[in-house]
Amino acid sequence: MRALQSAIRLAPLEDGVRTHAPITTTFRLGKRSLVIIVLKPGCTEEQLQHICEKVEEMGFRHEVSRGARRTLIGVIGEEDQLRNAPLRAIPGVEEVMSVLKPFKLASREFHEEDSVFDLGHGVKVGGGNLIMIAGPCAIEGEDILREIATDVKAAGANVLRGGAFKPRTSPYSFQGMGKEGLQILRKVGDELQMPVVTEVMDPRQVELVNEYTDMFQIGARNMQNFNLLSEVGQTRRPVLLKRGMSASIQDLLMSAEYILASGNMQVILCERGIRSFDNSTRNLLDLAAVPNVKGLSHLPIIVDPSHATGRPDLIPSMSLASIAAGADGVHIEVHNCPEKAFSDGQQALLPAQYAELCVQMKALATLLGKTIPQAGQA
Ligand code: PEP
Ligand code: MN
Repeated sequence: MRALQSAIRLAPLEDGVRTHAPITTTFRLGKRSLVIIVLKPGCTEEQLQHICEKVEEMGFRHEVSRGARRTLIGVIGEEDQLRNAPLRAIPGVEEVMSVLKPFKLASREFHEEDSVFDLGHGVKVGGGNLIMIAGPCAIEGEDILREIATDVKAAGANVLRGGAFKPRTSPYSFQGMGKEGLQILRKVGDELQMPVVTEVMDPRQVELVNEYTDMFQIGARNMQNFNLLSEVGQTRRPVLLKRGMSASIQDLLMSAEYILASGNMQVILCERGIRSFDNSTRNLLDLAAVPNVKGLSHLPIIVDPSHATGRPDLIPSMSLASIAAGADGVHIEVHNCPEKAFSDGQQALLPAQYAELCVQMKALATLLGKTIPQAGQA
């Protein structure tokens, strides 16, 4: 089948921001698919390299998954071409199989062990490492962010959060500080030696946000913004992907698959509550999503009890329950003066409340044999 090539040129964000060539996306006529090559038990490193080279020569993309018991190679390409490719004939290949689940690179079948990602400053997530993400909903200024960040770090937070681009329900609400906010977040994160996470809302912002953050956040409202998913998929930066408010578990994993299939294997999922008929909490926290996703996928999954409940009185118990359910971390909004916060003040914990909760989360983590990495100890 003939390939139809089309280059998407992104408009410059603002003068001087776009520093490298625009990203070019290739569209192919026909259906893309993925097959898995299972390597023979004694397959050597040279044979593995040889297989990867052959796969590339055939015009396919690949991802290697090294497990304790076996090594697999995921091969992505056009379905017809994959079906006819002589992959079985390459030395070292034991079997070629297809994953039946609609999400493939995200599945446990492709990668048996839990994935572990490095966020910088000595902080890892997954495989028993918990991330404690904390900070204000929005970046509001340098001094206030530094104060909050200093407090949450002292309590045990190992990733600093803060939104510079805010997805607000009303166009009249505070929309975030933009680039200036990103600069403040980077500065405070560096000073305190904490990795930072911030939301990216639009494919055109990816290049700018990439310059300042250690991890992209894709918000609930953008979980199925497929252009955005593909764009962050072309970077090599970890992505925190929040579950959409009406998204099924399969929808969430399919959105992760978009990022993985674009070549970025570092996706961390986040359960942040779904819409329900009950309005006594902001959303309905689906805690079963944690062990549910863990059975289906190797990707880390964390919980955001702040947006899930919207209630400071429920956040401590739900944070502990999340860790007990096997979550790889919690994402909590903290503000030192919630009544003056530009957004989500009503759900923010005070630094002292966060510190008290951290004592309990650390004790629970120890009991469960989990590690809470300390930022800045690399
Ligand atoms: C946030 O983290 O501030 C946020 C907007 O979250 P969500 O996308 O889950 O609503
Ligand atoms: Mn918020």
